Amino acid sequence: MRVLLIGGGGREHALALGLSADPSVEQLIAAPGNPGVAAVAELRSVDAGSPDSVAALAVDTAADLVVIGPEAPLVAGVADAVRAKGIACFGPSAAAAQLEGSKAFAKEVMTAAGVPTARAHTCTDRSGTEAALDEFGPPYVVKNDGLAAGKGVVVTDDRETALRHAAECERVVVEEHLSGPEVSLFVVTDGEAAVPLLPAQDFKRIGDGDTGPNTGGMGAYAPLPWASPDLVDEVMTRVVHPTLVEMRRRGTPFTGLLYVGLAITAAGPKVIEFNARFGDPETQVVLALLDTPLASLLHAAATGTLAEHPPLRWRAGAAVTVVVASAGYPGTPRTGDMIDGADRPGIIHAGTARRAADGALLSSGGRVLCATATGPDLAAARRGAYALVDDISLAGSQHRRDIALAAAEDRISLPGQGGRVG
Ligand code: AMP
Repeated sequence: MRVLLIGGGGREHALALGLSADPSVEQLIAAPGNPGVAAVAELRSVDAGSPDSVAALAVDTAADLVVIGPEAPLVAGVADAVRAKGIACFGPSAAAAQLEGSKAFAKEVMTAAGVPTARAHTCTDRSGTEAALDEFGPPYVVKNDGLAAGKGVVVTDDRETALRHAAECERVVVEEHLSGPEVSLFVVTDGEAAVPLLPAQDFKRIGDGDTGPNTGGMGAYAPLPWASPDLVDEVMTRVVHPTLVEMRRRGTPFTGLLYVGLAITAAGPKVIEFNARFGDPETQVVLALLDTPLASLLHAAATGTLAEHPPLRWRAGAAVTVVVASAGYPGTPRTGDMIDGADRPGIIHAGTARRAADGALLSSGGRVLCATATGPDLAAARRGAYALVDDISLAGSQHRRDIALAAAEDRISLPGQGGRVG
């Protein structure tokens, strides 16, 4: 089949590696892609946020399947426009993508579906926000209602900081703070059948020990040796299927990738957020372990035949990815720095560009590269990923040194269960 992949970050490079390795893929086209993706796909330009532009490219490239990586095109209705041309598309409709596009909508669906999640209020003015903050108490959680590239959430003990964030947003969701280790579970779905991938954990804060501001994600690992073996089944039963039923009931079935962000609290798993697409950088580790051909899986979801798809096969061992970010990230990232050491297996490009004059590789975004390695266990995968990081040269770059460290050392404890698990 001919596959058109939309997007140009680290997630899309990981998707491109998976798609191009599927023997059923005759040709992979990526738009806009990036210099890493260029090694495995033909690159085309596109206005990824424009439904007409993507649909026209899908027709022009005679795509049999379009895979949409980022959230913004989904919320803008790109999947609807592609399907209107009669082309299979992996990704939800604009209406269904509101599960990510609006935190208030997601809460409404979760409440209707009886999904365990933090108690929350949607607020549009200072007095409403103050009342909600005081009801839940610190630490305060204030979320911008709309898309904010993973940076719309403030978690703080400082009431003034919480109020300031709310004042900067038109509409916020103020919610109860959930404590416990976080899990990202990706679920491939055709709206009815649903297939979970391996649970993963990502690292949102910029600094070691989960300090500093939130980012798009500084690293990830899979699988989770500390998680209960029943976790995935429990989340499928209590979260995923009720949500899919509710979305069908509303006449807006969710198809594509449902990303369930969870906190494992003393009262069990609770949803922190839904996303409508693969997470970045968890995709880098989850797909590194997936043995089942990716394009055939996504095609089954896009064509309503997921129930007939064979069970997934996984490689043994573990995967770790460490994000190398540019100076200034997550504030104002510096771009245009020369990168050395990125042309090797395991280096996923997230924010890179080639200089037109001489083809030199330059940083072009906040998260620049994701050093990704697999190994027989987390400790080995960490060593592989950090060995790749050590060989990268990028002026002023930052990375966390503790990605997957606590899990590799068996130091993650689940609340309410007497400490260490493993
Ligand atoms: P989100 O964009 O909703 O994933 O939020 C980004 C990050 O903020 C999450 O990964 C959590 O670390 C944190 N967060 C969001 N909501 C909550 C909550 N209710 N309780 C604790 N932490 C939260």
